[in-house]
Amino acid sequence: HDKHVLHISWFTESMSAGRPVPVEIRHYIQVSDALEVLAENLELSGNQGPSLAFRKAASVLKSLPAALRRQEETQHLPCLGEHSRAIIEEISECGSSSRVEEILNDERYRTMKLFSSVFGVGPKTAENWFCRGLRTFEQVLSEPSVRLNRMQTAGFLFYEDISKPVSRTEASALKIIVEEAVICVNPSATVSITGGFRRGKEFGHDVDFIIKTPEAGQEDVILPAVIKRFKSQNILLYSDLQESTFDLRKLPTHCFDAMDHFGKCFLIMKLKHEQEMDARAGKDWKAVRVDLVAPPLERFTYALLGWTGSTLFLRDLRRFARLERGKLLDNHALYDKATNTFLPANTEEDIFAHLGLEYIEPWQRNA
Ligand code: ATP
Ligand code: MN
Ligand code: MN
Repeated sequence: HDKHVLHISWFTESMSAGRPVPVEIRHYIQVSDALEVLAENLELSGNQGPSLAFRKAASVLKSLPAALRRQEETQHLPCLGEHSRAIIEEISECGSSSRVEEILNDERYRTMKLFSSVFGVGPKTAENWFCRGLRTFEQVLSEPSVRLNRMQTAGFLFYEDISKPVSRTEASALKIIVEEAVICVNPSATVSITGGFRRGKEFGHDVDFIIKTPEAGQEDVILPAVIKRFKSQNILLYSDLQESTFDLRKLPTHCFDAMDHFGKCFLIMKLKHEQEMDARAGKDWKAVRVDLVAPPLERFTYALLGWTGSTLFLRDLRRFARLERGKLLDNHALYDKATNTFLPANTEEDIFAHLGLEYIEPWQRNA
């Protein structure tokens, strides 16, 4: 524990030594950025539902081939509510939106965004700190009544590294490391990259991996063994193992925000980089957030679909399954309410076929 305190004081000092607080309150260059500010502002105050309309509108604008310039172009677009259209109109006429400007300058928004950018700090904690008058990391870290949990401690400790985007090259390097550990523990297991990188994104906030084990029960022992191996290699900076609470008989849930029940772990790993040394700290590695999930074989395909995302795409797919097809879909299964059966799937193609949809490639799921 003392080691943590030490690192945090190093952090506080370097932060107050004139370096800018590393929060990115960028000015919106695209209309979609403006809508995302509105969404984020709602999410930071716990209004997930109302934020969705702005998220969807932003996603539609981002899917357009060229940046949106003229307001008339929005007429035929789907998913744009009255509110989003009004903002778009204002920006196309005045170059900016007064509401968005107001949010970007709002002390509460800026502080909540800063605090919730720390791994392990959600909107509740961020709000708690804000309400206690805290505005900067220095203030949080030197406030005696603030008790950081293990996750938040790691979040501050590795803030600089893990707030930087992870590149595809870094993701590939991590895949080799994860694969080596998984195969060493269980030679018949395989590792695939999921999340944003599977959708073809060039950068991510973490790297997501899914592990496939060919025999029943193996999924429960593989994660602890892999973590143990990473520890022995001295490449694990933080780990949070969540054991499986999965039940084969349970029906898919309606609730979208519920976490799935597979065994998983949230990690911070040390990734060695060969090129330039970090001059200030003299370290030759970067801390990177890594997620691993190990579902049972018979539900692997549903877990793969769920963890490939995007969150918005999956929300729509689940909604479509329920309302248009009378089927319940989540990360664990697809359940047909008409026949009261679980539908098996060996490939993602099977899932889309069950839903009467043409196959949608991962790169087409970036909603
Ligand atoms: P980024 O590039 O920012 O990492 P991403 O799409 O990979 O984007 P993640 O937050 O890593 O985003 O999540 C990847 C996918 O896994 C998402 O579709 C998300 O819904 C799903 N996911 C992440 N964590 C969980 C969890 N604990 N339970 C269930 N699903 C999860
Ligand atoms: Mn990810
Ligand atoms: Mn993730």
